[in-house]
Amino acid sequence: MQKKTRICYIPLAACAAIVLFRRKQVKYFTKATCLVMLIAAASAVHADPVPTLSSPLQGNILSRTITSHFGDNWNNTYCGGYIKKHTGIDVYANSNENVYAAYSGYVRKAQLDATWGGYVSVDHGPASTFNLVTTYWHVIPSVSAGTWVGTGQKIGTVADLGSGTHLHFSTFEAGWMDVVAYAGALPQTNCGGYPAFPSYFKNPTNYTYTNK
Ligand SMILES: [Zn+2]
Repeated sequence: MQKKTRICYIPLAACAAIVLFRRKQVKYFTKATCLVMLIAAASAVHADPVPTLSSPLQGNILSRTITSHFGDNWNNTYCGGYIKKHTGIDVYANSNENVYAAYSGYVRKAQLDATWGGYVSVDHGPASTFNLVTTYWHVIPSVSAGTWVGTGQKIGTVADLGSGTHLHFSTFEAGWMDVVAYAGALPQTNCGGYPAFPSYFKNPTNYTYTNK
């Protein structure tokens, strides 16, 4: 809700500017404009803090089989045997299925990877009001880094890794960070320069999705 409150300041500042301009006899704005801005600000403050996303896979990802849940423990020998926590959800998908942007934004990362099959990371930015970044793993990208994608736009296809295809979908609400460096899971405790499992890793199943 803090971010929503911050948004409120923008129209308030605009209204203050309007009043100042009007005093200087610049009559481009009216009191009605100011009123509309204040109503918009009030509705932003009371808006649902959980955004609605577009399903990254055809239909609705929440209707699909989730093969690994958010926060699942991954036992491994990396980092002295610390348990790692899964940073997203693994959703069953067929090979070559289309993958779509869950929200509009800039593609920050889009590349093939010999181990993971490739990934796309989209920065939805402060304009999204919740500083969302979404990352899609095991995907052959069809977009390039630096390009803008609209909500629901195709960004790649699910890659066949030969061991059961799935989409790893991660959601982060902390602005842009190169989450690709953290792979699909993070150690529970600080190790090797990786942070402890931070709160800005969100559970993708807590969002609502419109069908694709
Ligand atoms: Zn995963």
